[in-house]
Parts: sequence; structure tokens; C-alpha cells
Amino acid sequence: MIHSTGSTPIDAFYRFAIAAEQIAATTKRLTKAAILGSYFPTLEDDDLRLAARYFAGSPFPQFDQRVLQIGGSALMNALLIVSEAESNLLQAELVKRGDLGDVAADVLSNQIAPTLRLSEVGEAFAALVEIRGNKKKITGIVDLLKRATALEAKYLIKLMSGDLRIGLREGAVEDAIARLADQPVGRIQWVNMLTGDIGETAVLARHKQLDTARMQLFHPIKFMLASPVEDFAEITTRMPEGFAVEDKYDGIRAQVHIAAANSESRSLHGATIDNVRIALFSRTLDEITGTFPDLVEALTALDLELILDGEIVPFQGNRILPFQELQKRLGRKTLTDELLQSVPVAFVAYDVLYCNGKVMIEEPYSVRRSILESLNLNTPRLRRAISQQFKDVTLLEQEFQAARDRGNEGLMVKHLQSTYKPGKRGKDWLKVKRAIATLDVVITAAEVGTGKRSRFLSDFTFAVRASETDPTLLNVGKAYSGLTDAEVQELSDWLKQHTIQEFAHGRVRTVEPKIVLEVTFDRVQVSKRHKGGYALRFPRILRIRSDKPVEEIDTLETVRNLAAQLEDNHKDATQLVDRTSIASET
Ligand code: AMP
Repeated sequence: MIHSTGSTPIDAFYRFAIAAEQIAATTKRLTKAAILGSYFPTLEDDDLRLAARYFAGSPFPQFDQRVLQIGGSALMNALLIVSEAESNLLQAELVKRGDLGDVAADVLSNQIAPTLRLSEVGEAFAALVEIRGNKKKITGIVDLLKRATALEAKYLIKLMSGDLRIGLREGAVEDAIARLADQPVGRIQWVNMLTGDIGETAVLARHKQLDTARMQLFHPIKFMLASPVEDFAEITTRMPEGFAVEDKYDGIRAQVHIAAANSESRSLHGATIDNVRIALFSRTLDEITGTFPDLVEALTALDLELILDGEIVPFQGNRILPFQELQKRLGRKTLTDELLQSVPVAFVAYDVLYCNGKVMIEEPYSVRRSILESLNLNTPRLRRAISQQFKDVTLLEQEFQAARDRGNEGLMVKHLQSTYKPGKRGKDWLKVKRAIATLDVVITAAEVGTGKRSRFLSDFTFAVRASETDPTLLNVGKAYSGLTDAEVQELSDWLKQHTIQEFAHGRVRTVEPKIVLEVTFDRVQVSKRHKGGYALRFPRILRIRSDKPVEEIDTLETVRNLAAQLEDNHKDATQLVDRTSIASET
């Protein structure tokens, strides 16, 4: 039952939940913004900070290193306790609804009056971070849920699981803040990028103090992305004045933040060595400082305030090693000295976003590149991407081959005048990759294997997105080869913990769609069995893309295009055979 908000205080979490419900109920962007637009002005500054962060989907600001780290199963256990429902019933509901928050709203019937305040939710989240041990954490969650009405519990669970799923992204919150302050949205995005806190941004905008925002380091800035190029002629058309050509390194994207350490009390990301603070972030904007202690040490030598963009690659002697080498080091819980030595890495810098007090994002590529060239990036652990300027494309074929010979994936072509555009996949950066067809897909189900893999979930059903705008997942195939035993074992453990539903005594499971794989295959077939209408023939896993978020996997349209392309190639090949056979007959 939804209570009226008439008697509830302005800062009640219940009001937040009501606004969230209203936002979920409409698909119209403007209506969503209008709901935020009437809710935000009612709040005091401190509550506005929290509400803006929560609507952006995160319990803490981005600059804050704290994470709730509450897994789906802990939330499920807490909900089992509070609701006193049958485990089977909750599981079945979860499969049906796909979101534990929605399940909570269905199964909870606690008819208490709403009393939780936004600030109390903030305190409860802060306290949960401090709790160690799964059991104690579940007790903490149970205590919080018991203080909530069913509707509030729905949104508490959604916040704890890291996604509100009400069709509202951070961009929409920025939009609403912009409308309220009568400012261009670009200005709000800029301040949010500088401060790393949508809550603080909302408060600055309200007080007309956007000008006072300064760059805060140690929160990730969204990465600029590249678009694939079909043929070299496209480069000539887009960049007639010339362009920069870099190697496309095959590693994991990383952003480095470096500054002198100070005693600021905020719990910032990163680690401090010799009074220098260093943080590394992945393309998914997660902190990965702890995975690369050897790089952290090397980076302290730079002795400047910097944000660098680049790639972490396996690197030994003077050579870049295959990506698979790096995989041995990723996802490991403990990093032994042996492992660090057996898989040495280097950070190859290719961009600079901030340098000694100056934000470089709006400077053209050529200016950013010259700063990069002034840095000491010529050590075994710190490198600079090779960059050459070309006026026409005639030499690119040769360059592509040279990059491949150096162990790299291909080329990146960059517009010399382009600014750095955080989070955008535009045409200022073009990628020229190897010719084999690959797809980035997500695992949706898993099955135990055979032989020595019979103890593990090692056969993976995978899906693509319906389209760029429709996140519905459509299965397109099933793969079981391509990963090492260690990878399979790790993946299997993860999938067991993130199972949605079990069949055949756990031998087959649907799983949370979070693990992205890069797969290759022989052909794309039209298939009646698969909802999307296509199936990949003989798929093989090239690698686990832990650096890629599910939102960026390939779409059905790409599959359709590949099917058409491969079909054409096939025709070309048969025609060739036909002609030669005719030739040999005559
Ligand atoms: P893809 O993952 O295929 O979409 O290709 C884009 C990725 O290429 C980026 O996210 C980077 O991780 C990687 N990359 C490798 N070398 C470069 C480079 N020189 N400049 C920009 N991105 C690069």
C-alpha cells in the first residue's frame, strides 16, 4: 500500500521512493526530469546531495572509494529473513521480475508508517560499509529493511544492488539539475566531471556557484571511445587535413591519477607511497590500483599532478606480450611476488587529461600529445604510445602490418584538432582492427562441462543486446572452448554465486548477465531456435572482457550485418572456385 506523502516530512526517504516510482512509471524523459524538478527544490542542501546521488544510482559520490559490496545472494538472504517467505517462492519471483527490489515490494507486507529520513539511509549505508563478514552484513541489511515500508525496501535494495532500474541515468539527473538552475547541461556535466559528485554539483548549481568548482583528482573520468573504420577512404573524408596514427595496444584500458598526498579526510581512491597518491581506474570506472602494485611504484617517479589515459599491457624486455599473459594476473585475489614477476606489465600512455593544475580535456589532440612527449615515459614500466602524423592513407596498410608485427592489435587514427570527449564514442578516434569477425557478448546461462570440466560450469550460453536503445538480451550461441582451466574455474565459482535459477540439480543455470566475452566464430546462421533469429556456428571464446560493461556489448544489428557480410564473402569465394574450375576445364 502506498501512503500519502501529506504528513511525511520533506526529507523522508519515503518521498524519494514515491518520486522514483513516478519516474519508473513514465518513459518520457521530460516527465522524468519534471518529477526531479519538483522534488529537488523541496530538499535542504545535505538531503539534496544524497537524493541526487541516489537518483544517479550510487550510494556514495564517485570520488569516494567506499563501496557497499553487497552481493545478490546477501540481499536475497536478508529479504528471506525480513519477508519470512519461502526461498523457492522468492527465487521464482526473482526469475519473473528480474529485480530483487521489485520482488521485495511484492512480498513485504510490513504495514509500518514511513519514518526513515534520507540522512538515516546515508548513515545506514556508511555503517554497512564498515561491517566485515557476510553474516554480520546480512544482519545489518535486515535491520535496515525492518525500518522500512515495502516501497522503501524496494528502493533500498535497488540502491544496495547498484542500480535503480527506473530508466534514469546520471545524464538525466544532470539534465534536471541544469533545468532547475537554468544552465546548459554541458556546464553541469563539466562540473560533475570536475567534482566527481553529482550531489555536490546539484548544490553548487542551486547556489549559482558552479564557477567555484575545481578539478578533484582520484575519481574516474569517463573514457573517450573509438568507432570502427570500414575502409581507409573514410579516414580521408573525415580528416582531410591529416591525422595522428597510433598503435592499438591489446591490453586493458586504464586511467592514472597522480598527485602529492595530503591529509584530506575524505576516503579517496588510490594508494599512497612516499607521499604521492596514485589511483588506477578501469574502463568500467572501477578502481584497479590494487591489481598493479608494480605500476603504482613506477608511477610515483613522475612527480607531477596528472591524469593519464592509456593501456596496461603485458611487457617484458622491450616487447609487448600477448593479451592472454595479462589475463593470468586479472581477477586474482592474491598477487604473489612470483606472479608479479612472471607477468610484468607496462602502462602505455596515450593521452593526458590533466596536468599540474590545468584541465587538458578541451585542448586539441596535438597540444595534449606535446605534453605527453614532455613526460618521462621511457622506463620499463612506463611507456608512451607511438604516434606519427600522416597526410594521406597510402602508407596505412604498411603501418597496420608493422603494428601487428610489434604485437599490437591494429591502429588508432586520431583527429589532430579533436578534444577529449569523456564517455563519447565519436568519429574523432577511429580504430582499425584485425579482419576476423568478433562479437562482444554476455553470458546468460551456464552448464557443467564434460570430462575434466564436469565439476565446473564451463559451457556458456551468450547473448547480444536487441539494439543500442533496447537492452533486452537475445541469446545467439553457446561456447565452451577458448578459456584456460584456471579461467574456467574462476568463472564457474563466480557464476555459481550469481545464479538466478537452477535446473537439473544445478547442472544448468541462468546467471546474472554481467560477464562479457569476446567470441569469434565460423559463420552466422539463421536460427528458429534462438529468439533473435540468428545463431553463431562454432563459436570460440577469445577472452573474458572484464574491462567492458554489459551496456557496451554488440547488438543484434551487428550480428545481422556480420551474417550478410560473411554470406557475401562466402559467395565471392565460391565464385572464385567456380571461375577457376571453368578455367581449368577450358
Ligand atoms: P574496442 O575495445 O575494440 O572498442 O577498441 C577501443 C579500445 O582500444 C580502447 O578502449 C582502448 O582500450 C584500446 N586502445 C588501444 N590502443 C589505443 C590507443 N592508442 N588509443 C586509444 N585507445 C586505444
